[in-house]
Amino acid sequence: MAKIGVWIEMGQDGVKEANLGVLTAAAGHEVYALVCSGDAEGCREVCGKYGAAKVVALAAESGALWDSPDLAARALAAAANEFDLQVVTGLGSLNGRDLLARTAAILDAPLLQDCTAVDFTAGTVEKSHFSGKTVARFECRAPLWLCSLRPNAVEPQESPVEAEVVSYTAPVSGSGGVKVLEVRRDSSGVMELTEATIIITGGRPMDSAENFQLLHECAAELGAAVGASRAAVDAGFAPHSMQVGQTGKTVSPRLYIACGLSGSVQHFAGMKTSKVIVAINTDKDAPIFGKCNYGIVGDLFEVVPVLTEVLRERA
Ligand SMILES: Cc1cc2nc3c(=O)[nH]c(=O)nc-3n(C[C@H](O)[C@H](O)[C@H](O)COP(=O)(O)OP(=O)(O)OC[C@H]3O[C@@H](n4cnc5c(N)ncnc54)[C@H](O)[C@@H]3O)c2cc1C
Repeated sequence: MAKIGVWIEMGQDGVKEANLGVLTAAAGHEVYALVCSGDAEGCREVCGKYGAAKVVALAAESGALWDSPDLAARALAAAANEFDLQVVTGLGSLNGRDLLARTAAILDAPLLQDCTAVDFTAGTVEKSHFSGKTVARFECRAPLWLCSLRPNAVEPQESPVEAEVVSYTAPVSGSGGVKVLEVRRDSSGVMELTEATIIITGGRPMDSAENFQLLHECAAELGAAVGASRAAVDAGFAPHSMQVGQTGKTVSPRLYIACGLSGSVQHFAGMKTSKVIVAINTDKDAPIFGKCNYGIVGDLFEVVPVLTEVLRERA
């Protein structure tokens, strides 16, 4: 059984749901949930439900950790030594990849980012290479190593244990070299694509930014995020932050609904690890029908409103 530290990323409403897959991957080992920001006591129940017996309220002698990634990294590195951890892991979000890279540098330990699978018993991880065309498998032999997991790569599964909160103040001084002054949310106010468990995406035939409202309405019923193909982004129908694909975001949701997408290799490079893919396309011979789990031959402007209506009635 390995000693694994899982960095817990907080969202607006507490522990981000995407952390649960990381905790699930570590469950069965001696898991320390490492909470740098927010209320560790408030995280105890959910961390315990997903297998973490210890929830560490991390603090630094010099002050708050939440607004300084380098102080947080120094505190994480100190915690790794204090609790004799063999692995430090966390969500491969923007913040997670930044924080784990800093922590690995301080610990002078190997780091594998954006892993799509991990086996902590064998010390192996998998990473997707060349836009998903190959999968590379790594064995980590160092006594301490770090990895970030792609959001939604591991399906959350409860494995409840009794969790206790432990306080640890890291011997970290100074105010940190980098301080976060302000966090601006995406002006569209939509859910972060890379962490969404359901995504509905629009392609070129959306034809205007206004028509994307159709997808936003359906997404509201599904609890989904809205994505776009590059063709839709290049045409100015959606911002680049919504682009999925080789030159956009890589996503791995449980359900991906592709509305008016031909199924280009560049788009697939960013969403091929989706668990279930549903395609809506007017052309029965569109390449996307050879790559999806369920296909609907039809006009998205007719099919999506019906789907939204059915979901509304069921709510
Ligand atoms: C280097 C490089 C990087 C790229 N990176 C990306 C990337 O990151 N992401 C990305 O998406 N693309 C990327 N592309 C572009 C990619 O090659 C495609 O051009 C693009 O994905 C096509 O977008 P689309 O499927 O929306 O449009 P199209 O290929 O035009 O397909 C539209 C589909 O909608 C169907 N349709 C039409 N009307 C309707 C309707 N009313 N209802 C339902 N279906 C309808 C059509 O039958 C068609 O199959 C990249 C290309 C290159 C060269």
